[in-house]
Amino acid sequence: MHLGEIDERKLYLDRAFSSMFTFCTRELGFSEGAAYNRILVARAARPLPALIEAVRSGRVHLAGLRLLAPHLTLENHAYLLAKATGRTKDEIAELVAAIAPRPLPPAMIRKLPERQSLPLVESAAKPVAPPARPIVPMAEASYKLQFSISREFRDEIREAQDLLRHRVPDGDLATIFRAALEVFVAKARKERFAAGCKPRGRAETSVETHSRHVPDPMKRAVHERDGGRCTFVDERGKRCDERGALEIDHVDGFARTHRHDLDALRLLCRAHNQHAAEQMYGRAFMEAARERTRPGTSSPAGTGLPDR
Ligand SMILES: [Zn+2]
Repeated sequence: MHLGEIDERKLYLDRAFSSMFTFCTRELGFSEGAAYNRILVARAARPLPALIEAVRSGRVHLAGLRLLAPHLTLENHAYLLAKATGRTKDEIAELVAAIAPRPLPPAMIRKLPERQSLPLVESAAKPVAPPARPIVPMAEASYKLQFSISREFRDEIREAQDLLRHRVPDGDLATIFRAALEVFVAKARKERFAAGCKPRGRAETSVETHSRHVPDPMKRAVHERDGGRCTFVDERGKRCDERGALEIDHVDGFARTHRHDLDALRLLCRAHNQHAAEQMYGRAFMEAARERTRPGTSSPAGTGLPDR
């Protein structure tokens, strides 16, 4: 119940976390799996309080409820909770499969060490357990990465292997992905923060303008000064750890000042930037504004939950 309240009111933002998921794992010390179960069940229980009662009374465990939660409605939840009572997780998974059949898992590509000349093969499609975490530490500085891809993506990988055969004779996937990512990250960084561009003179520290676009040298200065990390700090002095999807925030609100001042710009993660805007302009106003800019989307903004 507390998690549902924290989630609904986005209180994790005030504790310097960019999502409910990082709040649960870093602040509350939940394991990733426990955090995932609890957030989804807490969220589903907001409109369906019977879920809380099912956990409290021990009728259905959290892991099973998490599987069931996406399929529960006002009409069917009493019936399905009764069906799930006293069942194991596997039995509840079968119940879910019966009410909402899933498509077969997509073909997977994996590298077979014994066949160097043909590194990509498709494994037989077989039912799989819930996917493992995509990046798993194998040794101190070694990780296993795993994800499902489309046929087109597989063809692209094969083309890249062929094109790079002179540089990467064995077509090693890690080498190729690393090289591709380096190019991609440099490009994305340049687009977002103008990093890596040749500085043309010193960055101006203040510009009055009608354009929301922060000049590139100033972007670069903000990114460097703030260390490429969200600058939100909570009342305990804890700083947000987020380094992804950073945005440049005008502390005083650009719409109010029409100025870009180096001292009044800061890096914020997307969640904390929206939080700051909501505090300045009001949550209802910002939600209406976001609805207008992305019609048809129903993504659970701010959840930070990994895809599963
Ligand atoms: Zn943040």
